[in-house]
Amino acid sequence: MDKIMIEKLHIYAYHGVHASEKENGQDFYVSAVLFTDLYKAGRSDALEDTVSYSDAAKLIYRVFTAEKYDLIERAAVTVAEALLDAFPALRAAEVRVDKPDAPIGLEFDTVSVEITLSRHTAYIGIGSNMGDRLKFIDKALAMLEETPGISVTAKSSIIETEPYGGVEQDPFLNGVIELNTRLRPYDLLDRLHEIENACGRVRTIHWGPRTLDLDILLYDDLHMNEKELTIPHPDMKNREFVLKPLAEIAPHLIL
Ligand code: ATP
Ligand code: CA
Ligand code: CA
Repeated sequence: MDKIMIEKLHIYAYHGVHASEKENGQDFYVSAVLFTDLYKAGRSDALEDTVSYSDAAKLIYRVFTAEKYDLIERAAVTVAEALLDAFPALRAAEVRVDKPDAPIGLEFDTVSVEITLSRHTAYIGIGSNMGDRLKFIDKALAMLEETPGISVTAKSSIIETEPYGGVEQDPFLNGVIELNTRLRPYDLLDRLHEIENACGRVRTIHWGPRTLDLDILLYDDLHMNEKELTIPHPDMKNREFVLKPLAEIAPHLIL
C-alpha cells in the first residue's frame, strides 16, 4: 500500500502523568504514516486526488494540543482516529509519539509509542418485532451514522419475516447494512448494545420479542470465537432473513 509520511512533527504540549508535565509542558515529536492509494494523484498531478500532508500535519497539531492527556498512548490513538475521520481516502493511519524529555531520571534518547488504526468492513443484521418496528430501525441507522468512526455504506431492503427459534411472537422486520468503521470488534459491539438499549431493548427470553436486535455478521474476513463475541455470526448461514438481504447488498461475498 502506498503511503504518505510525516516525520517528527515538533509539538510543544502538556501530556503526562505528573502534575508538573501538565503545568510546564515539554517537547513531543509526532510521526504519521498515512496509508492511501497514490497512483491516481501520481498520474493526475492534482492535489484533490491525494491527502494533503499540510492539512494532515495541521490536523495532527490541532488534535495533539486540544487536550492534556496522561498517556501518549491516548494522544496517539486520538490523532489516528482524527486522521481517519477527516480523510476518507485513508485506509489506515500509523501514529508514533516520541517524548524525548520524559521524566524518567535516566539517560536515554527517546521513549515512544506507535499505534495503527485501520478501516474495516462490517455487515450488521438488524431485526425488530415489537412496537413501531420501522421507527426503531430508522433510529438505529441514524445513531450508527452519527457514531464517530462509523459510516453506513450500504443498506438492504427491509423484509418482513416469520419469527425464528420456536418462540411464539409477532413477525419481524429484518435487514442488513454494511458499515465502514475504524472501531475494533468489541467497541463496535458495545456501540450496538448502546443503540439497542436506546431503543428500549430488554433481554428476557433468548430469541424472544425485541424492539431492536443488532448482530455483527461479518467483520472483514475475521474469525473469532469468544464467549461475548463470535464472528462470523454462528447461525447466519441457516437464516434466510440474514442471507437474503446480505446477498442483496454484497452479492460478491463468498461465505
Ligand atoms: P442470536 O445471536 O442467535 O441471533 P440474539 O441476537 O437474540 O441471538 P442477544 O440476546 O441479542 O442474542 O445477544 C446475546 C449476546 O450474544 C450478546 O450480548 C453478545 O455478547 C453475544 N454475541 C456473540 N456473538 C455476537 C455477534 N456476532 N453479534 C452480536 N452479539 C454477539
Ligand atoms: Ca440476533
Ligand atoms: Ca443480538
